[in-house]
Amino acid sequence: MDKETFTSWSRAYASRSWRFEPVSQKDVLTLFEACDEYGVIPRGLGNSYGDQALNTGGGIVSLQSFVNEKELVVSDQGCISVTGGTSYEMLLSACIRQGWIVPVVPGSKSITIGGAIAADAHGKNHFHQSSISSCLIEMDVLIANGKVVKCSRSHESELFWATVGGLGLTGLILRASIQLGKNYSNNFNVQSGKYSNFEQLFEQFKETTVNHPYSVAWLDLVSKKNAGRGVIQSASPILESSETFSYKASKHITIPKVLPFNVVNKVNGGVYNAIRFNSHPSGIKRRQVPIPDFLHPLDRVKNWNNLYGKKGFFQWQIVVPETEELLLNEIIKRLNNLPLLPTLAVLKRLGSESDSYLSFCKPGWTLAIDFPFTNISCRNQLNDFDRELAKAGGRIYLAKDGGVNPEFLNEMYPRLREWKQIRKKFDPDNVWQSDLSRRLHLA
Ligand SMILES: Cc1cc2nc3c(=O)[nH]c(=O)nc-3n(C[C@H](O)[C@H](O)[C@H](O)COP(=O)(O)OP(=O)(O)OC[C@H]3O[C@@H](n4cnc5c(N)ncnc54)[C@H](O)[C@@H]3O)c2cc1C
Repeated sequence: MDKETFTSWSRAYASRSWRFEPVSQKDVLTLFEACDEYGVIPRGLGNSYGDQALNTGGGIVSLQSFVNEKELVVSDQGCISVTGGTSYEMLLSACIRQGWIVPVVPGSKSITIGGAIAADAHGKNHFHQSSISSCLIEMDVLIANGKVVKCSRSHESELFWATVGGLGLTGLILRASIQLGKNYSNNFNVQSGKYSNFEQLFEQFKETTVNHPYSVAWLDLVSKKNAGRGVIQSASPILESSETFSYKASKHITIPKVLPFNVVNKVNGGVYNAIRFNSHPSGIKRRQVPIPDFLHPLDRVKNWNNLYGKKGFFQWQIVVPETEELLLNEIIKRLNNLPLLPTLAVLKRLGSESDSYLSFCKPGWTLAIDFPFTNISCRNQLNDFDRELAKAGGRIYLAKDGGVNPEFLNEMYPRLREWKQIRKKFDPDNVWQSDLSRRLHLA
């Protein structure tokens, strides 16, 4: 089989791998015949920022041929069963039209359910709703011995919880059943306000996150004088409405193709952040916003990742435990002194942890920052923060990572050893592998 080049969403990472795209259940089972020492990794829509869905020298398996919009029918009890390759765009569109909503939605519609489960993904409502596993009923997982295992909280629960957040390294999620929530409108009630320094913003954010189901803060970390100033946006569902249900996002613009150079530099990074801050009016702004626009604001600029040119960018997403506010404050202030450009920064509040062995989310504050990828060692500039985070009980989000030092992992993920044992039980010969699993010694 000829190998082809696969890239990460950030374009900073790539691999040459062979592609396997089964078209029938029987076909899926022939997957392992093609595996060599580099194994195979499931791939959804390839929208992870790092090397999670890359497998240099080995195989990549995709379920895109199984996706079928017609099967997306919600039961009377609000349950839906979907193939692992179904995108959020397709799922949300079908659910909203039938009067339901997926309770946990990550920040892009171009993410598959399999990819979201493999990350135990969270949305802007994690503080109230927890992660995707909170609404996951059961899964069919193809494991390394070629068997398909049905697993849930009460049946094969080890496999269930090792697969949730397991980054594709326990098996291929063929199907998942999800419990949906009732939805009444095509819009959310959204309010937003801007705060001219981080202290003010953070105090307000604590209150907003308690009082609104969905909240997110955009931070300007480029400003030298007021690093951490920003805009808080929160949303609540509209409970009474008689309109016909439809899923309609506002029009998007498209960034043409991979630009040969990075247009995100210090000057226009600063200008972008300043415009974003200054263009928000003072006081609280209230309006009704189409649900997809609130959940996926970045999707309104299609292929925005191309702005970073051929070298791409990387994202550093951390969680700082609830009791470590000072550390969060420190990080925001000290980032300014590094030779890195924090072009886009987003803060969310996290609530309860799931039972997944590799759950990223725990009660606290999650900060996600995009930096242009300047050279091979640029990610090392954040090592000192990683060390301090690990000591304080914080974590790096492995589903987005491209360069954490594996020495911090046991501290960040106290159940990592247990997860490795379960993984070994279901995959003794390391069939499931990725660039990430080799880099972090997970398989
Ligand atoms: C713009 C943007 C915003 C984002 N916002 C959020 C957010 O708000 N919250 C959040 O939690 N995450 C967020 N993410 C990260 C995203 O949820 C994860 O990276 C997710 O895993 C990507 O899914 P994918 O379908 O693109 O999978 P891929 O990138 O193709 O794969 C990601 C991982 O999932 C595994 N995987 C994929 N499909 C399967 C399957 N069927 N069975 C088993 N394993 C599988 C792969 O092996 C790999 O380890 C965001 C990403 C982007 C690009």
